[in-house]
Amino acid sequence: EIALLGGDPINRFEVGQVEAIEQRRQLDIDLRQAIGRGELHLVYQPQVDLVTREMVGVEALMRWTHPTHGPVPPAIFIPLAEETGYIAELGRWALAAACRDCAAWPSSILVGVNVSPAQLRLTDVLGDVAEALKSSGLPPDRLDLELTEGTFVETLAETQDLMQALRRMGVQVSLDDFGTGYSALSYLTTLPLDKIKIDQSFVKQIGTPADDALLHGIIDLCRRLGKKTLAEGIETDEQARQLAQWGCQTGQGYLFGKPADSIVITRMLADDRQPLESRA
Ligand code: C2E
Ligand code: MG
Ligand code: MG
Ligand code: MG
Repeated sequence: EIALLGGDPINRFEVGQVEAIEQRRQLDIDLRQAIGRGELHLVYQPQVDLVTREMVGVEALMRWTHPTHGPVPPAIFIPLAEETGYIAELGRWALAAACRDCAAWPSSILVGVNVSPAQLRLTDVLGDVAEALKSSGLPPDRLDLELTEGTFVETLAETQDLMQALRRMGVQVSLDDFGTGYSALSYLTTLPLDKIKIDQSFVKQIGTPADDALLHGIIDLCRRLGKKTLAEGIETDEQARQLAQWGCQTGQGYLFGKPADSIVITRMLADDRQPLESRA
């Protein structure tokens, strides 16, 4: 019998548990080789102005194609990398790749890059950002770092200093997945944030009166505080119209486009920019 320290005794290790631990260990080994073997790539999801429906930015999302398992979802490998610390390398790679891709797009297009709380603890994010901007030539105001609420719960003071330093560099800072987890309203008033990304769980609830009141209120509050808003997970035209009516400026979701390869984004941007008369 195995007893967890100070916890509930567990009768025995399930065979499945042992296998799961072994699988994780192997996945960690494989992940550490993924960059070198070219198994990672970024896909980009369009972000649009909810009034004009024009693309104003993209969010970079990491994809890993394992040589034998095929695509591994970020929901599996990102938490694994956060636990093992390998997220420092993955994050540095993503920053460099996203800045390089975005530098080839029109100057009106921003790129959002996810930064996990563990990265801030483990690595010199400021140095990584500076290096990615320098080697790509991307102007700092086209980079938008997406931080989650977990970041502030763990290390509020240090993170605020880092955010100030990033903003002095000219980089934008967004609060990702707002409305999930801790959701302290005080984050909205105290943190130096440029943009609030409203979590898709809110968007899914549009049409339910109490939830509508809350969502409308959040958008209004952000506007009064001078923060930009972006709604995530927009799947229907009705949701997009309602959000625009409430004053939410930008949106992202399957309605406007699923995450796509950089080549597809390049083509979408080129098509958009063609003068109307030259269209077939
Ligand atoms: P996130 O940053 O909140 O990214 C948005 C997620 O919502 C993406 O999932 C995206 O594909 C999905 N999504 C977008 N529009 C819709 C929609 O209309 N409906 C639905 N149902 N889903 C939609 P994905 O790509 O699987 O990424 C999941 C999470 O993994 C991300 O959530 C982010 O937290 C993390 N992640 C992905 N790439 C990176 C990365 O490069 N670095 C870090 N630290 N985390 C990453
Ligand atoms: Mg994000
Ligand atoms: Mg999000
Ligand atoms: Mg999310």
